[in-house]
Amino acid sequence: MRAAVLYGIHDMRFEDRLEPILAPGQVIVRIGAVGICGSDVHYFAHGRIGPYVVNSPLVLGHECAGTVTEAGPSVTSVSVGDRVVVEPQRTCGLCSECTSGRYNLCRSVEFFATPPYDGALQEFMAVPERIVHRLPATMSMEQGALIEPLSVALAACDVIDVAPGDRVLVTGAGPIGVLVSRVALGAGAAEVAVCDVEPSRLEFVGRQARTRTVLSGEGALVSVIGDDWDGFVECSGSGMALNEGIACVRPAGRIALVGMFLNDQVTIAPTQLQAKELSMKGVFRYANQFPRAIRLLESNVLEVMDLVTGRWSFEDVAKAFERADSDRIHVLKEMVTL
Ligand SMILES: [Zn+2]
Ligand SMILES: [Zn+2]
Repeated sequence: MRAAVLYGIHDMRFEDRLEPILAPGQVIVRIGAVGICGSDVHYFAHGRIGPYVVNSPLVLGHECAGTVTEAGPSVTSVSVGDRVVVEPQRTCGLCSECTSGRYNLCRSVEFFATPPYDGALQEFMAVPERIVHRLPATMSMEQGALIEPLSVALAACDVIDVAPGDRVLVTGAGPIGVLVSRVALGAGAAEVAVCDVEPSRLEFVGRQARTRTVLSGEGALVSVIGDDWDGFVECSGSGMALNEGIACVRPAGRIALVGMFLNDQVTIAPTQLQAKELSMKGVFRYANQFPRAIRLLESNVLEVMDLVTGRWSFEDVAKAFERADSDRIHVLKEMVTL
Protein backbone atom coordinates (compact mmCIF):
# COMPACT_ATOMS: atom_id res chain seq x y z
CA MET A 1 0.00 0.00 0.00
CA ARG A 2 1.06 3.58 -0.45
CA ALA A 3 1.94 5.89 2.42
CA ALA A 4 2.92 9.56 2.22
CA VAL A 5 5.94 9.84 4.49
CA LEU A 6 7.59 13.00 5.78
CA TYR A 7 11.36 12.50 5.65
CA GLY A 8 12.40 16.01 6.52
CA ILE A 9 11.39 19.61 6.10
CA HIS A 10 9.38 19.98 2.85
CA ASP A 11 10.41 16.42 1.97
CA MET A 12 7.39 14.14 1.59
CA ARG A 13 7.76 10.92 -0.36
CA PHE A 14 5.53 8.03 -1.27
CA GLU A 15 6.58 4.75 0.18
CA ASP A 16 5.33 1.26 -0.53
CA ARG A 17 4.54 -0.36 2.79
CA LEU A 18 3.09 -3.68 3.87
CA GLU A 19 -0.62 -3.59 4.53
CA PRO A 20 -1.41 -3.74 8.25
CA ILE A 21 -2.37 -7.10 9.72
CA LEU A 22 -5.49 -7.37 11.83
CA ALA A 23 -4.91 -7.92 15.57
CA PRO A 24 -7.59 -8.93 18.10
CA GLY A 25 -10.06 -6.14 18.85
CA GLN A 26 -9.01 -4.16 15.83
CA VAL A 27 -10.48 -3.15 12.52
CA ILE A 28 -8.72 -2.31 9.28
CA VAL A 29 -9.81 0.98 7.76
CA ARG A 30 -9.26 1.95 4.14
CA ILE A 31 -8.63 5.69 4.57
CA GLY A 32 -10.93 7.77 2.36
CA ALA A 33 -10.37 11.43 3.27
CA VAL A 34 -7.85 13.30 5.40
CA GLY A 35 -8.03 16.96 6.36
CA ILE A 36 -4.72 18.77 6.73
CA CYS A 37 -4.34 20.43 10.11
CA GLY A 38 -2.16 23.38 11.05
CA SER A 39 -0.07 21.01 13.14
CA ASP A 40 0.56 18.77 10.10
CA VAL A 41 1.69 21.81 8.12
CA HIS A 42 3.94 22.85 10.97
CA TYR A 43 5.70 19.47 11.01
CA PHE A 44 5.99 19.64 7.22
CA ALA A 45 7.51 23.13 7.22
CA HIS A 46 9.53 23.11 10.47
CA GLY A 47 10.04 19.46 11.43
CA ARG A 48 8.90 20.02 14.99
CA ILE A 49 6.25 21.48 17.28
CA GLY A 50 7.88 22.48 20.56
CA PRO A 51 9.12 19.28 22.20
CA TYR A 52 7.68 17.02 19.48
CA VAL A 53 10.42 16.54 16.91
CA VAL A 54 10.25 14.53 13.69
CA ASN A 55 13.42 12.46 14.18
CA SER A 56 12.43 9.60 11.92
CA PRO A 57 10.14 9.32 8.88
CA LEU A 58 6.57 10.14 9.87
CA VAL A 59 3.16 9.76 8.22
CA LEU A 60 1.10 12.91 8.83
CA GLY A 61 -2.69 13.33 9.08
CA HIS A 62 -5.06 12.91 12.02
CA GLU A 63 -8.38 14.20 10.68
CA CYS A 64 -9.61 11.12 8.88
CA ALA A 65 -12.51 9.03 7.73
CA GLY A 66 -12.62 5.78 5.80
CA THR A 67 -14.27 2.42 5.23
CA VAL A 68 -13.91 -0.71 7.33
CA THR A 69 -12.39 -3.48 5.20
CA GLU A 70 -11.72 -6.08 7.91
CA ALA A 71 -12.97 -6.57 11.45
CA GLY A 72 -11.82 -9.01 14.11
CA PRO A 73 -14.28 -11.64 15.46
CA SER A 74 -14.82 -9.78 18.74
CA VAL A 75 -15.72 -6.50 17.00
CA THR A 76 -19.40 -5.62 17.42
CA SER A 77 -19.88 -1.88 16.90
CA VAL A 78 -18.94 -1.76 13.21
CA SER A 79 -18.80 -4.20 10.33
CA VAL A 80 -17.01 -4.56 7.03
CA GLY A 81 -18.26 -1.94 4.58
CA ASP A 82 -19.19 0.63 7.23
CA ARG A 83 -17.97 4.16 6.67
CA VAL A 84 -16.31 5.43 9.82
CA VAL A 85 -14.46 8.30 11.43
CA VAL A 86 -11.27 7.36 13.23
CA GLU A 87 -10.63 9.18 16.50
CA PRO A 88 -6.88 9.58 16.19
CA GLN A 89 -5.76 8.72 19.71
CA ARG A 90 -4.88 5.29 21.06
CA THR A 91 -4.95 5.26 24.85
CA CYS A 92 -4.08 2.62 27.45
CA GLY A 93 -7.68 2.24 28.64
CA LEU A 94 -6.49 1.35 32.14
CA CYS A 95 -5.07 4.42 33.90
CA SER A 96 -7.17 6.71 36.09
CA GLU A 97 -7.50 9.29 33.31
CA CYS A 98 -8.73 6.64 30.90
CA THR A 99 -11.14 5.06 33.36
CA SER A 100 -12.49 8.42 34.55
CA GLY A 101 -13.40 9.40 31.01
CA ARG A 102 -10.64 11.93 30.46
CA TYR A 103 -8.70 9.60 28.22
CA ASN A 104 -7.20 12.49 26.23
CA LEU A 105 -4.97 12.99 29.29
CA CYS A 106 -3.71 9.39 29.31
CA ARG A 107 0.06 9.57 29.82
CA SER A 108 0.62 6.82 27.29
CA VAL A 109 -1.61 8.27 24.58
CA GLU A 110 -0.45 7.60 21.05
CA PHE A 111 -1.80 10.42 18.91
CA PHE A 112 -1.73 10.05 15.13
CA ALA A 113 0.92 12.11 13.36
CA THR A 114 2.64 13.14 16.58
CA PRO A 115 6.16 11.72 16.57
CA PRO A 116 6.80 8.82 16.66
CA TYR A 117 3.26 7.66 15.80
CA ASP A 118 2.21 7.52 12.17
CA GLY A 119 -0.93 9.27 10.99
CA ALA A 120 -3.57 8.65 8.36
CA LEU A 121 -2.01 9.67 5.05
CA GLN A 122 -1.69 6.02 4.08
CA GLU A 123 -4.09 3.69 2.35
CA PHE A 124 -4.87 1.34 5.25
CA MET A 125 -4.64 1.52 9.04
CA ALA A 126 -5.28 -1.08 11.74
CA VAL A 127 -6.95 0.60 14.70
CA PRO A 128 -8.69 -0.51 17.91
CA GLU A 129 -12.45 -0.86 17.58
CA ARG A 130 -13.07 1.67 20.33
CA ILE A 131 -11.64 4.56 18.32
CA VAL A 132 -13.84 4.11 15.26
CA HIS A 133 -17.25 5.76 15.03
CA ARG A 134 -19.77 4.89 12.37
CA LEU A 135 -20.72 7.65 9.92
CA PRO A 136 -24.41 8.11 9.13
CA ALA A 137 -25.30 7.35 5.50
CA THR A 138 -26.12 11.00 4.85
CA MET A 139 -22.61 12.17 5.71
CA SER A 140 -19.70 12.37 3.30
CA MET A 141 -16.12 11.25 3.92
CA GLU A 142 -15.07 14.90 3.94
CA GLN A 143 -17.61 15.70 6.63
CA GLY A 144 -16.22 12.70 8.48
CA ALA A 145 -12.72 14.14 8.29
CA LEU A 146 -14.04 17.40 9.78
CA ILE A 147 -15.37 15.64 12.89
CA GLU A 148 -11.94 15.89 14.52
CA PRO A 149 -11.57 19.71 14.48
CA LEU A 150 -15.25 20.03 15.35
CA SER A 151 -14.60 17.87 18.42
CA VAL A 152 -11.89 20.31 19.53
CA ALA A 153 -14.45 23.13 19.25
CA LEU A 154 -16.99 21.17 21.30
CA ALA A 155 -14.41 20.50 24.01
CA ALA A 156 -13.53 24.21 24.11
CA CYS A 157 -17.14 25.33 24.40
CA ASP A 158 -17.68 22.81 27.22
CA VAL A 159 -14.82 24.45 29.12
CA ILE A 160 -16.33 27.93 28.92
CA ASP A 161 -19.76 26.43 29.54
CA VAL A 162 -21.64 28.42 26.89
CA ALA A 163 -25.20 29.22 27.98
CA PRO A 164 -27.99 30.80 25.92
CA GLY A 165 -27.52 34.55 25.73
CA ASP A 166 -23.79 34.46 26.46
CA ARG A 167 -21.32 36.61 24.61
CA VAL A 168 -18.23 34.72 23.52
CA LEU A 169 -14.89 36.07 22.37
CA VAL A 170 -12.67 33.99 20.08
CA THR A 171 -9.11 34.98 19.17
CA GLY A 172 -7.77 33.29 16.04
CA ALA A 173 -9.97 32.75 12.97
CA GLY A 174 -8.41 29.56 11.65
CA PRO A 175 -10.57 26.44 11.29
CA ILE A 176 -10.72 25.85 15.05
CA GLY A 177 -11.63 29.46 15.84
CA VAL A 178 -14.36 29.43 13.19
CA LEU A 179 -15.77 26.14 14.50
CA VAL A 180 -15.66 27.39 18.10
CA SER A 181 -17.64 30.46 17.07
CA ARG A 182 -20.23 28.26 15.32
CA VAL A 183 -20.56 25.81 18.22
CA ALA A 184 -20.99 28.77 20.61
CA LEU A 185 -23.71 30.25 18.40
CA GLY A 186 -25.32 26.83 18.09
CA ALA A 187 -25.34 26.60 21.90
CA GLY A 188 -27.28 29.85 22.02
CA ALA A 189 -24.62 32.52 22.36
CA ALA A 190 -26.19 35.89 21.66
CA GLU A 191 -23.07 37.22 20.04
CA VAL A 192 -19.56 36.11 19.19
CA ALA A 193 -16.59 38.36 18.51
CA VAL A 194 -13.77 36.91 16.44
CA CYS A 195 -10.37 38.56 16.36
CA ASP A 196 -7.51 37.82 13.94
CA VAL A 197 -4.60 39.50 12.18
CA GLU A 198 -5.80 38.38 8.75
CA PRO A 199 -8.61 40.41 7.10
CA SER A 200 -9.61 37.63 4.67
CA ARG A 201 -10.19 35.20 7.51
CA LEU A 202 -12.34 37.77 9.29
CA GLU A 203 -14.28 38.41 6.11
CA PHE A 204 -15.06 34.68 5.93
CA VAL A 205 -16.17 34.25 9.53
CA GLY A 206 -17.98 37.59 9.50
CA ARG A 207 -20.54 36.22 7.04
CA GLN A 208 -22.14 34.31 9.92
CA ALA A 209 -25.05 35.77 11.84
CA ARG A 210 -24.37 37.39 15.22
CA THR A 211 -20.63 37.48 14.53
CA ARG A 212 -18.59 40.59 15.04
CA THR A 213 -15.07 40.65 13.65
CA VAL A 214 -12.12 42.64 14.91
CA LEU A 215 -8.80 43.09 13.14
CA SER A 216 -6.12 42.82 15.79
CA GLY A 217 -3.40 45.38 16.06
CA GLU A 218 -5.70 48.38 15.80
CA GLY A 219 -5.44 49.49 19.40
CA ALA A 220 -6.31 47.54 22.52
CA LEU A 221 -9.04 44.94 21.92
CA VAL A 222 -10.83 45.92 25.12
CA SER A 223 -11.25 49.47 23.90
CA VAL A 224 -12.98 48.14 20.76
CA ILE A 225 -15.27 45.42 22.18
CA GLY A 226 -15.47 46.24 25.90
CA ASP A 227 -14.91 44.08 28.95
CA ASP A 228 -18.18 42.25 29.36
CA TRP A 229 -17.60 38.94 27.56
CA ASP A 230 -18.79 35.82 29.38
CA GLY A 231 -16.44 33.35 27.73
CA PHE A 232 -13.16 33.63 25.87
CA VAL A 233 -11.59 30.91 23.74
CA GLU A 234 -7.99 31.57 22.72
CA CYS A 235 -7.35 29.78 19.41
CA SER A 236 -4.36 31.67 18.02
CA GLY A 237 -1.52 30.58 20.30
CA SER A 238 -0.43 34.20 20.62
CA GLY A 239 0.51 35.59 24.03
CA MET A 240 -0.61 39.04 22.94
CA ALA A 241 -4.05 37.72 21.95
CA LEU A 242 -4.31 35.92 25.29
CA ASN A 243 -3.59 39.08 27.24
CA GLU A 244 -5.89 41.21 25.11
CA GLY A 245 -8.65 38.66 25.53
CA ILE A 246 -8.25 38.36 29.31
CA ALA A 247 -8.91 42.09 29.58
CA CYS A 248 -12.24 41.65 27.77
CA VAL A 249 -13.69 38.97 30.05
CA ARG A 250 -16.30 40.00 32.64
CA PRO A 251 -15.77 39.24 36.33
CA ALA A 252 -16.15 35.50 37.02
CA GLY A 253 -15.86 34.82 33.28
CA ARG A 254 -14.32 31.69 31.77
CA ILE A 255 -11.31 31.22 29.52
CA ALA A 256 -10.29 28.21 27.43
CA LEU A 257 -6.78 27.83 26.01
CA VAL A 258 -6.95 25.96 22.71
CA GLY A 259 -4.30 27.55 20.46
CA MET A 260 -0.84 26.01 20.47
CA PHE A 261 1.62 28.40 22.07
CA LEU A 262 4.75 27.73 20.06
CA ASN A 263 6.50 30.29 22.24
CA ASP A 264 6.09 28.40 25.45
CA GLN A 265 6.96 31.33 27.69
CA VAL A 266 4.15 33.87 27.77
CA THR A 267 3.77 36.69 30.28
CA ILE A 268 0.32 37.31 31.71
CA ALA A 269 -0.87 39.65 34.44
CA PRO A 270 -2.10 37.40 37.28
CA THR A 271 -3.85 40.33 38.93
CA GLN A 272 -6.37 40.32 36.08
CA LEU A 273 -7.26 36.72 36.86
CA GLN A 274 -7.37 37.40 40.60
CA ALA A 275 -9.28 40.64 40.65
CA LYS A 276 -11.98 39.27 38.34
CA GLU A 277 -11.81 35.68 39.68
CA LEU A 278 -11.51 34.38 36.16
CA SER A 279 -11.18 30.68 35.51
CA MET A 280 -8.73 29.69 32.84
CA LYS A 281 -8.41 26.10 31.67
CA GLY A 282 -6.38 24.27 29.07
CA VAL A 283 -8.04 22.23 26.36
CA PHE A 284 -6.00 19.28 25.13
CA ARG A 285 -7.75 17.73 22.15
CA TYR A 286 -11.00 16.07 23.31
CA ALA A 287 -12.58 13.09 25.00
CA ASN A 288 -16.01 11.63 24.27
CA GLN A 289 -16.80 14.32 21.70
CA PHE A 290 -16.85 12.36 18.44
CA PRO A 291 -20.36 10.90 18.82
CA ARG A 292 -21.70 14.38 19.65
CA ALA A 293 -19.86 15.97 16.74
CA ILE A 294 -21.30 13.34 14.37
CA ARG A 295 -24.85 13.98 15.63
CA LEU A 296 -24.33 17.71 15.26
CA LEU A 297 -23.29 17.43 11.61
CA GLU A 298 -25.96 14.87 10.87
CA SER A 299 -28.61 17.25 12.20
CA ASN A 300 -27.44 20.04 9.87
CA VAL A 301 -27.43 22.50 12.76
CA LEU A 302 -23.96 23.58 11.84
CA GLU A 303 -22.19 24.12 8.51
CA VAL A 304 -18.62 22.87 8.10
CA MET A 305 -18.09 22.17 4.42
CA ASP A 306 -17.45 25.83 3.60
CA LEU A 307 -14.17 25.49 5.53
CA VAL A 308 -12.76 23.34 2.73
CA THR A 309 -10.61 25.65 0.62
CA GLY A 310 -8.85 23.03 -1.49
CA ARG A 311 -9.33 19.44 -2.63
CA TRP A 312 -6.45 17.18 -3.61
CA SER A 313 -5.88 13.63 -4.78
CA PHE A 314 -3.51 11.44 -2.75
CA GLU A 315 -1.07 11.73 -5.66
CA ASP A 316 -0.85 15.50 -5.04
CA VAL A 317 -0.64 15.39 -1.26
CA ALA A 318 2.74 17.17 -1.15
CA LYS A 319 1.28 20.00 -3.26
CA ALA A 320 -1.57 20.30 -0.78
CA PHE A 321 0.99 20.80 1.99
CA GLU A 322 2.97 23.32 -0.04
CA ARG A 323 -0.19 25.31 -0.66
CA ALA A 324 -1.27 25.16 2.98
CA ASP A 325 2.18 26.37 4.01
CA SER A 326 2.56 29.14 1.46
CA ASP A 327 -0.95 30.57 1.19
CA ARG A 328 -2.08 31.12 4.75
CA ILE A 329 -4.28 33.99 3.64
CA HIS A 330 -6.66 31.79 1.65
CA VAL A 331 -6.24 28.33 3.10
CA LEU A 332 -8.52 27.13 5.87
CA LYS A 333 -8.81 23.39 5.34
CA GLU A 334 -7.15 21.46 2.54
CA MET A 335 -8.72 18.06 2.02
CA VAL A 336 -6.99 15.01 0.56
CA THR A 337 -8.98 12.13 -0.92
CA LEU A 338 -7.27 8.74 -0.96
ZN1 LIG B 1 -6.08 18.89 13.87
ZN1 LIG C 1 -4.62 5.64 29.98
